[in-house]
Amino acid sequence: MGLRVYINGEYFEKEQARVSVYDHGLLYGDGVFEGIRCYNGRIFEIDAHIKRLYDSAKAIRLEVPIDRAQMKNDIEHTVSINNLRDTYIRVVITRGPGSLGISPAKTSNPQVIIITDHIELYPAELYEKGTEVITCATVRNHPNAVSPKIKSLNYLNNILGKLEALDAGVPEAVMLNHLGYVAECTGDNIFIVVNGGLKTPPFEAGILEGITRRIVIELAEKQGIATIQQNLTRYDLYTSDECFLTGTAAEVIPVTRIDGRAIGDGQVGIITRELISSFSQHVNNG
Ligand code: PMP
Repeated sequence: MGLRVYINGEYFEKEQARVSVYDHGLLYGDGVFEGIRCYNGRIFEIDAHIKRLYDSAKAIRLEVPIDRAQMKNDIEHTVSINNLRDTYIRVVITRGPGSLGISPAKTSNPQVIIITDHIELYPAELYEKGTEVITCATVRNHPNAVSPKIKSLNYLNNILGKLEALDAGVPEAVMLNHLGYVAECTGDNIFIVVNGGLKTPPFEAGILEGITRRIVIELAEKQGIATIQQNLTRYDLYTSDECFLTGTAAEVIPVTRIDGRAIGDGQVGIITRELISSFSQHVNNG
């Protein structure tokens, strides 16, 4: 049997899993989502992901039809009926079908969808030799517009940044915020290494509060590597010793070139390698 997808408490074959064309998730990007990983049969940081999902929903005034305990149970059940031990989990909550016109008041029946499937953002060899990224012209959402803290179904801003990256022949773009400081990449948070310590933009720079970001900061601290959360400019990126990105799908991926400048000596740095290895141990052994 193929993969089964959860929609509002029912399971459908992947090919049969559908929502209405009147769903405001489709018509207006009105909804929220999470990307979660399951490693070795353990759903990684599930409580943190559920918290962020419900916070995102609250911020857009979307009432989730099931409570957090039920959500956790349903995510676990979807992984288990698909017999998966290592997978990517996508949880999507849409505003539900409604009439044409943006008003959420004309919608009912939010759709809760849980998909378990494979995701590969970066080719394996980039984890060995590092990837190149650019900084893009598309500015990260202003925190008083759709806050970057909300993991909404409206990723168009990030998609525009991603298109700039693809045009430049690289897989990811660094987005600056409205003040010109580094915010994050289109689907990952960013770190640099300077004089043996980590630096990463603070929440106030307008970023998604990445769960991988937090774990990496904690793992680094355990290894005696401190992290400073401060505003960074493109100059700081160019002149850093090492750079890497973090995200649920990407995990920890080294960056060795930004806007045509080699980072450090252009090779994957020692601290980045250490963190890739401690992250992998952490997710596999707990
Ligand atoms: N920033 C953005 C814009 C993202 O989409 C993601 C991926 N969800 C991240 C950062 C990384 O967050 P996390 O580590 O929680 O996956």
